Formats: sequence, C-alpha cells, structure tokens
Amino acid sequence: MTTPSDLRERIAQAIRDAAYDCPGGCDLTEAECDARHPIQVSALRHGVVASVYGEPDALAASVLAVVEPELAVRDEEIARLRTEIRLQGDALLRCRTLLASAAGIVLAARTTTS
Ligand SMILES: [Zn+2]
Repeated sequence: MTTPSDLRERIAQAIRDAAYDCPGGCDLTEAECDARHPIQVSALRHGVVASVYGEPDALAASVLAVVEPELAVRDEEIARLRTEIRLQGDALLRCRTLLASAAGIVLAARTTTS
C-alpha cells in the first residue's frame, strides 16, 4: 500500500483500513458482529470502501493512530526550536554585555585623553 502524503487522505485511508466488511455469513448476531468490529463498511464503490459506520471511540482511535506520530514529531521540533531560541538569546545577552563594557572602556579612554 502506498502512503498518501496528504494528511486528510491518510486519515481517510486509515478509517477505510479499519473498517471491517462483514460478508454477512459470520456466526455472530448483528449486535455481536458490531461489537467485535466497531467500524464496519456500509458501502463499497468499485471495491473501495465508500462509507463506514462505527463507534466514535473506534473512529477516533484510527484517526489518532495517524495524527499522534505527527504530533510527536512536531512536539520534538518545537522543543528543539525552543532550546535553539533560548541559546541564541543567551548568546545575544553575552554580546550585549561585551558591547556595553567595550563602550565603557572607549568612553573612559576618551575622557582620560581629552
Ligand atoms: Zn459479521
């Protein structure tokens, strides 16, 4: 299976993949089959899952399985950028301190030579 790059399509595909297409001849009652397979195919179009019905928790779980790894990557990136910003802020502060003391030295030299 190819992995679609678009997040929306990947979520849609995950829901299609999670949907169970009961052939109808299973030994379970409809309620038991629904309980065992909380996301089920309600229609196929040209062999592709066109619509599903399911429990909100199960649908949410199949969406989260796609979204959570991406959120984890973004959280890591945000943490990395925060560290970078903090380090650059520290470096800027050191530059400012050095410039201030250099300016102080220049001013002191001017006042003693004039
Ligand atoms: Zn069934």
